[in-house]
Amino acid sequence: MGIFEYAPAPESRALANLKDHYRPFIGGEFVDGSGEPLKTVNPATEEILAEVGTASVSDVDTAVKAARKAYTSVWSKMPGTERAKYLFRIARLIQERSRELAVLESLDNGKPIKESRDSDVPTAAAHFFYHAGWADKLDYAGYGPDPKPLGVAGQVIPWNFPLLMLAWKIAPALATGNTVVLKPAETTPLTALVFAEICQQAELPPGVVNILPGAGDIGASIVEHADVDKIAFTGSTEVGKLIQRTVAGTRKKLTLELGGKAANVVFDDAPLDQAVEGIVNGIFFNQGHVCCAGSRLLVQESVAEEVLEKLRYRVSTLRLGDPLDKNTDIGAINSAEQLAKIRGLVESGDDEGAQRWTSPCPVPERGFFFAPTVFSEVHQSMRIAREEIFGPVLSVLTFRTPEEAVAKANNTPYGLSAGIWTEKGSRILWMANQLRAGVVWANTFNRFDPAAPFGGYQESGFGREGGRAGLEAYLDV
Ligand code: NAP
Ligand code: MG
Repeated sequence: MGIFEYAPAPESRALANLKDHYRPFIGGEFVDGSGEPLKTVNPATEEILAEVGTASVSDVDTAVKAARKAYTSVWSKMPGTERAKYLFRIARLIQERSRELAVLESLDNGKPIKESRDSDVPTAAAHFFYHAGWADKLDYAGYGPDPKPLGVAGQVIPWNFPLLMLAWKIAPALATGNTVVLKPAETTPLTALVFAEICQQAELPPGVVNILPGAGDIGASIVEHADVDKIAFTGSTEVGKLIQRTVAGTRKKLTLELGGKAANVVFDDAPLDQAVEGIVNGIFFNQGHVCCAGSRLLVQESVAEEVLEKLRYRVSTLRLGDPLDKNTDIGAINSAEQLAKIRGLVESGDDEGAQRWTSPCPVPERGFFFAPTVFSEVHQSMRIAREEIFGPVLSVLTFRTPEEAVAKANNTPYGLSAGIWTEKGSRILWMANQLRAGVVWANTFNRFDPAAPFGGYQESGFGREGGRAGLEAYLDV
């Protein structure tokens, strides 16, 4: 080993308490679902981690009934001060079991342990703490005295932040007095089922939270169920549109948090080394499986070469490999399907004439991995500039004037997030006003706080999650 190489620093896999078999959680109990069991794999090794029982359409009905019963008999009647205690308990149990959850998340999803440990799990706990604080203060949230919950919330989440997306959905629903039927993604059901154990540990009344593993059809049947009052979905724009069509004309309230193609805009007066860190965090965090990822870098022409050079050097130092190794920066792509999608889009970039640079990092033989990639000479018409790649692939475009930067940044059907790098405060404010994006970060990227509302414009969806605005989605105001 050379003196600058790292020794392996694996986190113990035993911490995950992995079981052979997991089951759906309905009415406070783990039950045998009547769906076809699925096998969840470790994307870093392609080994099967566990067999997971899934829900059928009739289980969806049982779960919605359990949620309705819990809603009318217990949860909607309970004073906010009492509901808060359950949320605080859940938050503390997530902290107590944080190492187990982090290792399990990395095994099931492929994300680096340093991210699941330092970002996903603590932020999930923070969402419960934050919303616990709201549960007894809803009268003062600006919705008038005694705002009412909606009833049963059907929630469908993706695989990129399994536990964190669950927290974003469940914490505000419970804080406002709703009950929940949630479907985790097919490829990442495990931490949601450990969360179900946490609900039992917290002695949450049965039926307040129901977790139904399964494929997209189970998501669809939750959305279609006549006795669900609210749908909250995070995932692809394609499925979001389907859901919107299904819900149209019903009483169901809907929030959609869909894809993105965020512009990360670097001006020539920006502190470039800092900006490079922000660009790397913006697109390579979580293998780029981030709806708000800074996937379109817009650099002012005068500094484009310098930024690209610094960026390639920095990206070549990122360590790709075993997600459980504490030194790993880039883990595995979540599924073979997602890897094929990334490869397809990267090929289109080659075909359409962009310049591809790929990090020379070694790539493991087994597992689903994709080396960090930067495309330069990208034009706005190329697929890699328009479509969400949802992988560790950055498309770099240039601009000359702030007006051109705004026009290019807004030239997208999406509108979830954006980044601005400049020394000038006045330019930050001007840009933030011009950019059509739900979240605009200035001289930073991918910062999340439960108190800050998150959500999009246009094809990135509607409704907000987090903060006071996020409560509104679960209240009859
Ligand atoms: P997806 O199909 O939209 O999946 C999101 C969730 O919806 C999953 O739980 C999925 O179940 C479920 N689902 C699928 N079809 C459904 C339907 N007809 N009705 C209700 N629920 C349904 O997303 P994906 O297939 O995982 O990823 C595809 C692309 O979506 C990605 O490449 C990326 O571009 C984008 N994406 C965006 C986000 C985001 O955070 N905004 C997250 C993930 C993906 P299954 O797990 O069984 O598919
Ligand atoms: Mg899918």
